Amino acid sequence: MKCRELAEFLMDYVSGELPEENRAHFEFHLSRCRNCHEYLAQYESTVKAGRIACGELSDELPADIPEDLVKAVLAARKL
Ligand SMILES: [Zn+2]
Repeated sequence: MKCRELAEFLMDYVSGELPEENRAHFEFHLSRCRNCHEYLAQYESTVKAGRIACGELSDELPADIPEDLVKAVLAARKL
């Protein structure tokens, strides 16, 4: 799997919809590629920030999400 392919599977992976076989390739690449590892971490915190912005996670506002990121997600949703 190449980095570009990993990016394509990212959404399915995060939502748990990636088939077992692809998942194995995905995680194998992830364990060896620092770029993709960081990309995934960034993606996950963005998704989380999006949920907070929607009020889904209002009970647990984590301190590790930068306010700028939340604002960026909110701004993106208005487009
Ligand atoms: Zn990669």
